Amino acid sequence: MEAITNEQYNFLQSRTQKLINAYSTVNDQSVLHALKQLIEEEVKELVSVMSLETQQLFLTITSVQDKITADQYLSKVKPYVRPFIDVSEDQLKKLFSKVKKFKGPALNQIPLREISYLSWEDQGTNKRYIVAPYENRIIGLQGSFSTKHQKNICSICNKYESVGLFSVESKGKVQGTYTIRGNYICSDYLTCNRNLTSLQKLHDFLLPLLS
Ligand SMILES: [Zn+2]
Repeated sequence: MEAITNEQYNFLQSRTQKLINAYSTVNDQSVLHALKQLIEEEVKELVSVMSLETQQLFLTITSVQDKITADQYLSKVKPYVRPFIDVSEDQLKKLFSKVKKFKGPALNQIPLREISYLSWEDQGTNKRYIVAPYENRIIGLQGSFSTKHQKNICSICNKYESVGLFSVESKGKVQGTYTIRGNYICSDYLTCNRNLTSLQKLHDFLLPLLS
């Protein structure tokens, strides 16, 4: 398919940044050459299913040396970013059918080409919702969310950001008991989405909490 996802675009952007940093700090041509080769391999793998012509376009990343050439490259690949899966309000309601007083997001205000997962907060109930694609379906998780304007490592993107505590209650091993599992995650899900360069960390975070 001739398209990339938000996190793949972020990955490409992170690689252009690596090249910019290398060109401004490394003088050794063989080191630069090795880095370019490594990045070329990574990008090849990413676009392996695309037509040769499109692959060539993506592989021009090896000519990035500074901010200007990086921006030129990124503006060429940006149109290939496909929007986040189309979800309707009914689908979300179904996904969270066990939640009392479910309140969905303003779907028309979401920048679909800038997200790998969807998240919103219901201020009335202090609930935070997370929806993500997983193996051809969508998965949803909800928990309580509290922010104290602190910075910490986010459990989803693993970057040091403004975070809040996302707590999920699950049934304990003994009947009638509950355990609460809390994780710091970015307060702003758009910032978090900009930090994501693969879906792996997102799934590593979500899947254990869903069981
Ligand atoms: Zn994050």
